[in-house]
Amino acid sequence: MAVTQDQAPASGGHTFDSTSPATGELVGTFPLHGPAQVAEAVSRAREAAAWWAGLGFGGRRRRLLAFKALLAARSGELVDLVHRENGKPAADGFIEVLLAVEHLDWVARKAARVLRPRRAASTLVLANQAASVEYLPLGVVGVIGPWNYPVFTPSGAIASALAAGNAVVFKPSELTPAVGRFLADAFAEVVPEQPVLQVVTGDGATGDALCRAGVDKVSFTGSPATGRKVMAACAERLTPVVLELGGKDALVVDEDGDLDAAAEQAVWGAMANAGQTCLAIERAYVVDAAYDRFVGRVAELAARVRPGPGAEADIGPITLPAQLAVIRRHLEDAFRRGARAVVGGPDAVRPPYVDPVVLVDVPDDALVLREETFGPVLPVVRVRDADEAVRRANASPYGLGAAVFARRRADRIARALRSGMTSVNSVLVFAGMPSLPFGGVGESGFGRVHGPDGLREFSRSKAITRQRFPLPFSMLSFERPARLLPAVERAMKLRHARAPRR
Ligand code: NAD
Repeated sequence: MAVTQDQAPASGGHTFDSTSPATGELVGTFPLHGPAQVAEAVSRAREAAAWWAGLGFGGRRRRLLAFKALLAARSGELVDLVHRENGKPAADGFIEVLLAVEHLDWVARKAARVLRPRRAASTLVLANQAASVEYLPLGVVGVIGPWNYPVFTPSGAIASALAAGNAVVFKPSELTPAVGRFLADAFAEVVPEQPVLQVVTGDGATGDALCRAGVDKVSFTGSPATGRKVMAACAERLTPVVLELGGKDALVVDEDGDLDAAAEQAVWGAMANAGQTCLAIERAYVVDAAYDRFVGRVAELAARVRPGPGAEADIGPITLPAQLAVIRRHLEDAFRRGARAVVGGPDAVRPPYVDPVVLVDVPDDALVLREETFGPVLPVVRVRDADEAVRRANASPYGLGAAVFARRRADRIARALRSGMTSVNSVLVFAGMPSLPFGGVGESGFGRVHGPDGLREFSRSKAITRQRFPLPFSMLSFERPARLLPAVERAMKLRHARAPRR
């Protein structure tokens, strides 16, 4: 599919270029949309939202499944575009397209069941009332996306919002506008009637304009620093927000965990997509009894991970040039504090690539254990036991995902980890499970996409009571007899005033 700008509102002549981080080649030129163009897109979306909501669950399901089918059929084209614009190898691009397709399929099929009107229970006091709740679309949802998973990340919010009956105005990262354009063009092919999914392109100013454009909710995925700005901008109109922010995910390995599997998954979880994953394994806490074997195996596997531009490479370039300085700073800081590299070293940063690095003897206050590194760097920390691992993993303001390799204590550790999602005996799997909510705690944000929670996140609940028959006297009336409330009080005490025995 060609990268076109047919559907985008006019930009008044200002444009920006998107280029390959590996080769510098031009991928496309895009309009720099300002507040006026963003407002125009939102106003067009408002009309489209009414039409889209009017289709009902059945009509939307058919169209969303057609969108899914188109993305699956053209996955090769989309993966190639992701590779060119973001730099990641085709394998990483394919995995994110696959996940996006799976999530679309799930929300398209399940939205009716999750959001359909349902009866709610009544109480003794209100026994003459029937109660029901329904989940209505919000209207227009603004989605602001990052560059590191330009298909998977925004499509989670977009799919949930569309399936719940909203129109969407999507602002992709300025590093990956062509991928955003591809998604909107593909959608317009299967839903040509109305601009239900539009793309506005530009940088942070375009995102800020979308926050202030009177949309009914903003779903933001990006860094905690930008998340704060988004929330502040949205506060002006009391526009609700979902914030999917950064992470510093920990992996815990207990003594009875499968060490070979843990090492293999740790290396993939830390290094895939060159570590530029919100859910990347950025710290491993390994109990003393398993530590030496785990480090040995991790070193063996990580040393084989090849960065580069070609088809044979395991990881691509660092997409955001400024991130190279962050990675270098984290490594220098760690070495200054006495860390040792068992794979890679101080010269691992070779712009635009970073070679895999595995660190040991890293003190807790090192940047590489505290802040998001977003590079193929894995610090491994020796701990006495699983309790210490959990305590140190939880001593972070972030709380996105986590992973545990253990047997006996696996569930207990998984629950104790302060994160929105935890996988046992694997890494990152929860992101691909369409029936589960996705989101974090603390600096990793709040609100959920994916699954039933994601569908409700982009709906507003509406409660209705219906009086089935009148009672002889109503409490909610000035005409009630004087004896009514004392009688009700006696009944209340009979029913509620005794504490339960246990
Ligand atoms: P970023 O915060 O720099 O930018 C994200 C988006 O916000 C971009 O589209 C950008 O143009 C826009 N933006 C910038 N300033 C804005 C403003 N003032 N108002 C509105 N929008 C504005 O993040 P990034 O570098 O694109 O992405 C990397 C970050 O995203 C990492 O921290 C990563 O962990 C996080 N991330 C989180 C998830 C998740 O699901 N939790 C997924 C992927 C990435």
